[in-house]
Amino acid sequence: MLRVSLREISAALKEGRVSPTELCQRCLSFIKATKFLNAYITIAEDTALKQAEESEERYRRGQILGDLDGIPVAVKDNFNTAGIETTCASNMLKGYIPPYSATVVQKLLDQGAVLLGKTNLDEFAMGSGSTDGIFGPVRNPWSYSRQYREKSVQNSHIENEDSNWLVTGGSSGGSAAAVSSFTCFAALGSDTGGSTRNPAAHCGVVGLKPTYGLISRHGLIPLVNSMDVPGILTRCVDDAAIVLGVLAGHDPKDSTTVQDPFKPFELTSFIDASKLCIGIPKEYHAPGLSSETLALWSKAADLFENAGAKVIEVSLPHTRYSIVCYHVLCTAEVASNMARFDGLEYGHRSSMDKSTEVMYAATRREGFNDVVRGRILSGNYFLLKQNYETYFIKAQKVRRLIANDFVNVFRNGIDVLLTPTTLSDTIPYVEFIKEDNRTRSAQDDIFTQAANMAGLPAITVPTALSEKGLPIGLQFIGRAFQEQQLLTVAKWFENQVKFPMIQLQGMMDHGHTICHHQKSAFFS
Ligand code: GLN
Repeated sequence: MLRVSLREISAALKEGRVSPTELCQRCLSFIKATKFLNAYITIAEDTALKQAEESEERYRRGQILGDLDGIPVAVKDNFNTAGIETTCASNMLKGYIPPYSATVVQKLLDQGAVLLGKTNLDEFAMGSGSTDGIFGPVRNPWSYSRQYREKSVQNSHIENEDSNWLVTGGSSGGSAAAVSSFTCFAALGSDTGGSTRNPAAHCGVVGLKPTYGLISRHGLIPLVNSMDVPGILTRCVDDAAIVLGVLAGHDPKDSTTVQDPFKPFELTSFIDASKLCIGIPKEYHAPGLSSETLALWSKAADLFENAGAKVIEVSLPHTRYSIVCYHVLCTAEVASNMARFDGLEYGHRSSMDKSTEVMYAATRREGFNDVVRGRILSGNYFLLKQNYETYFIKAQKVRRLIANDFVNVFRNGIDVLLTPTTLSDTIPYVEFIKEDNRTRSAQDDIFTQAANMAGLPAITVPTALSEKGLPIGLQFIGRAFQEQQLLTVAKWFENQVKFPMIQLQGMMDHGHTICHHQKSAFFS
């Protein structure tokens, strides 16, 4: 039952084939059975069951709220949730119970969704592995897939199973693992440099970063306010469109959301490919791009061309500065954002309180990890009076150039850009942690970051399995606020590539292997 899409489970609820409470209970017990993935920080069992009962009552009375009524969802632990602990995977916010919910969370709840829990991440969403939070790393469900295991036995790249599990990517790795391992039907992530798309690609799910300004950031604990966007993780493109329809729209509590009303859309399966113009940015042939990902990217381009689309090489000359530019702008905004965590208003407060200054310093020393403290230091350096022009202002100017590259390409008739999402498939945790957080992010954000600089919508679609039996995703970047066009292309592509469903083999629940059918008998 859990292996179907949001749309399918919604139909099952409406037809009475399953009840919201039964569905919620199944998800909760599967979350417990897969606890070793470390995808969830908090399981909101009591409130989830209560929400499911309320939903059930609405179904009984025939007064359902919409497609999300009774649908179990998960939310990254950097969105505020009223009454439910919100930690950002940091000692600074451990035990913090927000008095209000983020607008996007409230919108999900208002539509009857059932909030199962809060998902794991890198501390304050700073990272690309979901390995740097206080609750420990998230394990990629594909580590336990038949596809990967069979290949690893053949290639003997797993000797010791337990020390060779794979990272999810990040920083929304908990949300990606939750959707990929069937413990929920959709999850919220956040995306500042790629944090929704990167883990989605590594976990074989769809990850959508909408246009900046389309969805409210109110209640999303900020990383880089000028680039943060709530992200949507689902098992297919259609599901992402459903969730987007619920979340999008102006929010008086977020002045950066646009006023124009958003019309939710249904995606068609048909596209007239001959009217489509796909751009292939030549600068995305980056060093470190794996030969399999490159081959897949070019196969995907052929697919469009064979269907009658125009496929054109384009140039985004300033994209290569996006990572270094991001380093300056991100840390500058981080330095300012993190000033609120001073031990006074909320969050951690050190017991070292000889003086206010000592208390501030000790609180921040104890509350933040090295990554966060390092970014605060860099940011304050870039913002020093004597450095401000050289670094911060210059980076702002480069950001404009990066954004203008996209404007030019779209002005010249390109509808969507097709690129890789990540350099390669994912790697084992033991390999991943050989490099520090900053080096990793610089590599991992290479194809995703520029869309955040430019505020453009982008989506990763799981495309094929690598030689190791692991997912590779490809990315489409669209014009600002043209989500319908972007998702239509993505859905067409999804239908063509027929990405194989994960076969979770090694996940045992009381001695029984869970998830072993291609399709649940329940729906066949
Ligand atoms: N990897 C990037 C960083 O560490 C992006 C993170 C994100 O998108 N939240 O800042």
